[in-house]
Amino acid sequence: MSEKIQAIRGMHDILPDHTPRWQYVESVLRRVMGAYGYHEIRLPIVEKTELFKRSIGEVTDIVEKEMYTFDDRNGDSLTLRPEGTAGCLRACLEHGLLHNQTQRLWYMGQMFRHERPQKCRYRQFHQLGVEAYGMTGPDIDAELILLSRRLWRDLGIDARLELQINSLGTTAERLAYRAKLVAYFRGHSDCLDEDSRRRLETNPLRILDSKNPDLKEIIDRAPVLTEELDESSRTHFQTLRDRLDEAGVAYAVNPRLVRGLDYYSRTVFEWVTQALGAQGTVCAGGRYDGLIEQLGGKESTAVGFALGMERLIDLLDQPERFDDAAAPHAYLIAVGELAETRAARVAESLRDALPALRLQSNCGGGSFKSQFKRADKSGASVALILGDDEARDQTVSVKSLREEGGQRTLTESELTAFLNTLL
Ligand code: ATP
Ligand code: MG
Repeated sequence: MSEKIQAIRGMHDILPDHTPRWQYVESVLRRVMGAYGYHEIRLPIVEKTELFKRSIGEVTDIVEKEMYTFDDRNGDSLTLRPEGTAGCLRACLEHGLLHNQTQRLWYMGQMFRHERPQKCRYRQFHQLGVEAYGMTGPDIDAELILLSRRLWRDLGIDARLELQINSLGTTAERLAYRAKLVAYFRGHSDCLDEDSRRRLETNPLRILDSKNPDLKEIIDRAPVLTEELDESSRTHFQTLRDRLDEAGVAYAVNPRLVRGLDYYSRTVFEWVTQALGAQGTVCAGGRYDGLIEQLGGKESTAVGFALGMERLIDLLDQPERFDDAAAPHAYLIAVGELAETRAARVAESLRDALPALRLQSNCGGGSFKSQFKRADKSGASVALILGDDEARDQTVSVKSLREEGGQRTLTESELTAFLNTLL
């Protein structure tokens, strides 16, 4: 026998026993998007490498070391999308969706990052991304946070998530802050690790993001960006806070929250949990007003977030209850030639009458005993039985697979009425 080929490390199959919980989460996400007037956009998984370099920034973890980049047969450099913001904006600019109009959009799908695989950190993972274009005020920032809170509420996981917010100011404010920060860290450069020393030259704000515990103290004492904000950035941030207070959203202002990507400005936020160990960020986003121009569009504004669906699903309370909900209601058993001939017709007419019915038909024959075994394994609540007697009398027998009790024989119309009570 030849050797079996295995999936790529960090890229996981989602097997049929887990897909129902995914479908459940996806259906809640879709419904909530509709409730706020957001529309779905479907985007390619592969884009030109240049798009990510230009948007995410050359000196970020993603671009420096996490992208799946390859040359296609024409020699063009392409990359599997590590996130969706860049592609979404590229599509909107390409199709003129930002011409004198606002957009509220969402997408869902696989993202790819070459990271060290561990719990809740994979090389292929799924995100829901939500983006709003052309709206400048803090009201839309607040809307996105409220929308995300509704997701947690509707999924029953809101008690496990905490909101952190910060403002990164405008590019000019960040540059002024950057100078202060560089001066501060230069004064302590003997305490920095190698990564941070490199970032001091390339992207000093990222030092604040460092996960190295040895740096915690010096980072804690570093100057704070919020103190550099000018009047209009301060007002933007304060109005956002007022809106959140008004809506009863609890949050903590975390002045060290800088986000890993280059393109953010003003509002940034993260929903974090203690329940998933080290990978505590479930949802992260913010405002990225400069990105549209950076990608060749006319000056406009944008704000959005992305959430990691694997982490979301890991937070569900008793996810197995969603998997059970996908089991068939009924399993149709047929033994004997007459019965087998009749089975497909009976099954089809039940499906005609009851479109919501999940009915699994036995295929491949077998004795009553072996068909009952399969019926039980399918998770169905009842077995529908067609034997010679039923075929002769035009009836169907019903037996519960989950409760004690005998078998009852029903006409087809009685059966339809009975199955309707199971839906
Ligand atoms: P982290 O700090 O965990 O590396 P990040 O800042 O790189 O996160 P974003 O680019 O903001 O993450 O992505 C948004 C969300 O997508 C994250 O909060 C997380 O839930 C999810 N996510 C990111 N990378 C991965 C991954 N490799 N595997 C699973 N989920 C991920
Ligand atoms: Mg990351």
